[in-house]
Amino acid sequence: MTSHSHENCQALLGSLSEYIDGELPSDLCTEIEKHLEGCENCRVVLNTTRRTIDLVQIPAEGSPLPSEVRERLFKRLDLNEFLNSNH
Ligand SMILES: [Zn+2]
Repeated sequence: MTSHSHENCQALLGSLSEYIDGELPSDLCTEIEKHLEGCENCRVVLNTTRRTIDLVQIPAEGSPLPSEVRERLFKRLDLNEFLNSNH
């Protein structure tokens, strides 16, 4: 008999990227983790988002993408033509 409303999920997903980046205060992290324990839906979203971030690894603003990462990214985006014309 867990009362877990849709609103909770919305709030969680809204701050998910901050949670992943470790930008949330620890009491909020605890709240999110508690919600995740009881909500498979949000766990799936979290895992998917984490995996996507791992693949892309966007660096901090201002620092250039390592060319290897950029190449991988372009490949994923099917922009090889752009890469080749941009030597
Ligand atoms: Zn949820």
